[in-house]
Amino acid sequence: MKQLKEYIQETDYCTYCPMMCRFACPVVSNDGIEAHAPGRLLALINLLRTGELKPNEDAARIFYQCTECLHCNVYCKHDISPSHVLRKAKEAIVSSGFVPETVKKARENLKASENFFGIDLHASLKAVVPEEFFRTSSKLLYFIGCVMAKFYPSTVFRGLQIFNDLGKEVSLYPDPVICCGYPYLALGDMTTFKMIASRNMRILDGYDEIVCPCPSCVHTIKEEYRQAGYPVKTKVIPLVSYLLPFVKEGILSSKPPQYKRLAFHDPCFLGRYLNIYEEPREILRAITQEEVLEPQWKGRDAVCCGAGGVFSLTSPDTAKAIALERIEEFRSAGADAIVTACPTCQRWLGKTDSLKVMDIIDLLHSTLLSPKGKGRVRVG
Ligand code: SF4
Ligand code: SF4
Repeated sequence: MKQLKEYIQETDYCTYCPMMCRFACPVVSNDGIEAHAPGRLLALINLLRTGELKPNEDAARIFYQCTECLHCNVYCKHDISPSHVLRKAKEAIVSSGFVPETVKKARENLKASENFFGIDLHASLKAVVPEEFFRTSSKLLYFIGCVMAKFYPSTVFRGLQIFNDLGKEVSLYPDPVICCGYPYLALGDMTTFKMIASRNMRILDGYDEIVCPCPSCVHTIKEEYRQAGYPVKTKVIPLVSYLLPFVKEGILSSKPPQYKRLAFHDPCFLGRYLNIYEEPREILRAITQEEVLEPQWKGRDAVCCGAGGVFSLTSPDTAKAIALERIEEFRSAGADAIVTACPTCQRWLGKTDSLKVMDIIDLLHSTLLSPKGKGRVRVG
């Protein structure tokens, strides 16, 4: 894995570039602070790389001004990925001892509960999900991630019911629910990330197939674990890709969805990281029998919800402003509800309380034909 001092081309190019990427960055577009533009951040990292800038409190704050959305990459003619270099700068800052409070708190939470939130997610899931879905004999794992476990346990249950309806024996992660490690990676806490990756790799390789409703978990387990030296051999599949063939087979009823004008928000991790744009749209078209409503910025050009890269923790006000602007795009497109396929996007866009935001799982669950499996246990 490359070290910060080896990022010479990236930091030099950005230092002298006219910054074609700037307008794509949701952070500087919203807070208007030019020092937060991707090229400016990398020019600062150039000074850190050469030793002209010593790690300090201000640098610790500024290097977290990124949602890791990769939108800047789309416009960079030099194939530079600023957020990847920023990760290295965050790692350098954290390993120099300038550990931001958010990192300290995240570490404490992991110690207390094996996840980023510091609460017993297993207990809260067990309050909603029947015991049969915690079986350890199943070779198909539904790796839900901490965000869905914490905020949307009913959606977890609905996802499990869909597997059940398809006749697939599936199980949740064994007790306790553990984080995939992405938040620690985004915070620059590589030590904690590697500890999680090494532990998860051993457990995940005990399954034949892993399906995740959270695209950042998919990317982290497939790609970041490998890069950190902990490759997972088991196939990891995003839920939308797993379900699309079944949808094509005809598992849907003709029941119309509650909302008429549905638009799709591309999560950065599903789109720019995993290159998945069509699968969720095909599922949506199958459900509504209509073309999917699109906001102005969509597909590989979709704007981040604001919460990527744990930015909603490190800069909540800007993150909220980004979400509100994104919501306005959907409103202008005439949407009466937004569908997405990422619990972080669902939560952050939904927090604005402006438009209904739902996961594609909930929509699909409401339109499935009668089950092929053992029969559905309804969410109360
Ligand atoms: S990321 Fe690319 S476009 Fe943006 S400042 Fe750097 S070199 Fe220029
Ligand atoms: S990854 Fe997104 S938030 Fe980060 S610098 Fe690029 S455009 Fe800005």
